[in-house]
Amino acid sequence: MKAEEKKVIYTLLKTADAYECGFTRPQFAGEPEFADDAETTMSFSGSTGEEPGPDMTNESSPSITQNGGLSLEELNAKILRCTRCGLARTRNNVVPGMGVEHPDVLVIGEGPGHDEDMQGLPFVGKAGFLLDKMLAAIGLDRKTNCYIANIVKCRPPENRNPMPDEQAACFSFLETQIHILKPKMILCMGKIAIEKLLGQEIAITQKHGEFFEYNGIPVMPTYHPSALLRNEQLKRPAWEDLKKFKRRLDEIKAN
Ligand code: URA
Repeated sequence: MKAEEKKVIYTLLKTADAYECGFTRPQFAGEPEFADDAETTMSFSGSTGEEPGPDMTNESSPSITQNGGLSLEELNAKILRCTRCGLARTRNNVVPGMGVEHPDVLVIGEGPGHDEDMQGLPFVGKAGFLLDKMLAAIGLDRKTNCYIANIVKCRPPENRNPMPDEQAACFSFLETQIHILKPKMILCMGKIAIEKLLGQEIAITQKHGEFFEYNGIPVMPTYHPSALLRNEQLKRPAWEDLKKFKRRLDEIKAN
């Protein structure tokens, strides 16, 4: 394949990805060097190989990134219309997230439960009540300095874990939320949230309270409030995590 053909394909993928996400993700920042393969066996134009293909690399062709990306409102409208996975068939309401636009902290949960599905708001059931208390203990509040979102925006039936394909279908929404919100720090509630965000397996019992990074943003996993409701003994380590998280946030805000 010729370098020019590779560049056309790359540009198409980059444009489609930016359209889907509403911004250019870091993995598409800049442009790689393309080289001709040693032997060209196939023509991109599908004919003689001599005709030039359409000039899709034209810098002036409109793309969503050149239009400045989506606003949070536009993104939410898109999330509300989503039918990318089977959860769209069983949900009562989509739950995009709630909070302030440039939060100190983005809190990421797993997915809506029954109460969230009925109200279209994240963490409004029993686990949400506990989450609000945990956040308040370190000076955080969804009305003033936090945004709360989930890995999947629609309720998995019977409160099962979201399936990998459901998480994958929804993930670009979270990526875009992070891009728009630009939180100073991210708090992941439970294993599913941290594993999907970082794209790696994480044993929450060993790694809770440790700092990781997502696109330069400090991220900490801690126990999901539902786990704390099931097992009181996790409350102490979760509290230690939150105190550590708050110390780091205070440092970031002081600089
Ligand atoms: N559990 C979650 O992970 N998210 C919610 O929004 C509610 C419960």
